[in-house]
Amino acid sequence: MRPVTDSLGAQADPVSDTPERAELRAELRRLIAATSPADQVLRLDEKEQFDDELFERLRQLGVHAVGGHPDHGGLGDIRDQIAVIEELAAGPTSMAVYMVVHYMITHILSTNGSPEQRAEWLDRLHTGGAKMSFALSEPAGGTDIARVMRTTARRDGDDWLLSGQKTWISGALRADALVVLARTSAGEAAAVDGVTMFLVPAGSPGLQVRELATVAVHGLDTCEVFFDDVRVPGSAVIGTVGSGFRQVVATLNRERVNAAAGAIGAATGALDAAVEYAREREAFGSTLGSFQAVQHRLVDGALAIEAARSLLARAAAVEAAGGRADLLSSMAKIAASEAAVKVTQDGMEILGGAGFSREFPMQRWFRDVRLWVFAPLANDMVRNYLGERLLGLPRSF
Ligand SMILES: Cc1cc2nc3c(=O)[nH]c(=O)nc-3n(C[C@H](O)[C@H](O)[C@H](O)COP(=O)(O)OP(=O)(O)OC[C@H]3O[C@@H](n4cnc5c(N)ncnc54)[C@H](O)[C@@H]3O)c2cc1C
Repeated sequence: MRPVTDSLGAQADPVSDTPERAELRAELRRLIAATSPADQVLRLDEKEQFDDELFERLRQLGVHAVGGHPDHGGLGDIRDQIAVIEELAAGPTSMAVYMVVHYMITHILSTNGSPEQRAEWLDRLHTGGAKMSFALSEPAGGTDIARVMRTTARRDGDDWLLSGQKTWISGALRADALVVLARTSAGEAAAVDGVTMFLVPAGSPGLQVRELATVAVHGLDTCEVFFDDVRVPGSAVIGTVGSGFRQVVATLNRERVNAAAGAIGAATGALDAAVEYAREREAFGSTLGSFQAVQHRLVDGALAIEAARSLLARAAAVEAAGGRADLLSSMAKIAASEAAVKVTQDGMEILGGAGFSREFPMQRWFRDVRLWVFAPLANDMVRNYLGERLLGLPRSF
């Protein structure tokens, strides 16, 4: 048996990382250090630019196929996806956000796509030869989306016509196609069951994408998408008409697991930077790291990260074994996002004025990790769900 070392703080899981997974992490670390060092990440963040070179290097390494359908070149499972996302989030965080969306889409197509859709898209997605966005959220609200969804698809002969608007859609500017959820039957009763998932090619007549100005995740565009009678054939339906929302909900555990991995990766990157700064910065004839107040904050950050990582490992083990980690993935997502907020908040304080400088990476992590508090699902809503499902309390929403 492989010796297990209790080496915390590193981006590694000493228990569940196989030698192959540990090697994947090591390869990624080398690749990120060479292609996307901290100053490069900051430069691209300032310019709000996607890192094409990093994407190409990741493509060559094969990370887009990780956890994918084995018939289409997929390799490994969700624990390998976690490794990829954690490593990226600790540096070029926006690329980790891209991968969370990418892995969700490849899972949706693997589990719900027709043989034709899988043949057309999965091989390309798995080699990084195509990009896709996932369009669910709308201006009227993301948390209550099943009730407030106004984007519709109506039949026109064998085709469908999509009309409406999506918002906050990651990567839509560069996507070759979008997975879009649209209402296909009306009425309160149809809130959940009247929604269908469509595969809509970019450039379809009537489809428009507009980039939004956001405070963070600057290395990946966040967009509004407008549909004005966008025509798609009947074969564009993913899965079953009327079941799109339920099909997506079935993939949300995995998205929560991967979002938690993103938050943990970013928190670890930020903690390492704070510890390094505390070791070097001199004050009162010593270093910041010698003061108990600073040490305690850093230790509490490490503790929060490791607690979240333990939940994540349990959730991932259930998912990798073919189970559904509804509760564990929800708890991991809350613990990880709140650990990331805490670590980056403390990091900003420990860096003092340097935390306020755009030349130091702390402020980028501080901004980026806010995403995972409310996305893909708001922590308040995840707590509602846990209140009902974990504790058996009355539904509160
Ligand atoms: C950078 C970025 C990228 C994104 N990428 C995508 C993407 O690729 N695809 C996509 O479809 N969406 C995406 N989103 C949207 C994201 O999923 C939503 O922002 C999220 O679901 C929250 O929806 P909302 O913003 O409409 O907030 P709202 O639904 O308006 O909720 C706001 C707040 O109200 C509180 N709240 C709401 N309901 C309840 C309740 N019942 N109980 C207690 N509190 C409640 C919560 O605190 C919540 O944070 C992205 C968002 C951002 C900012």
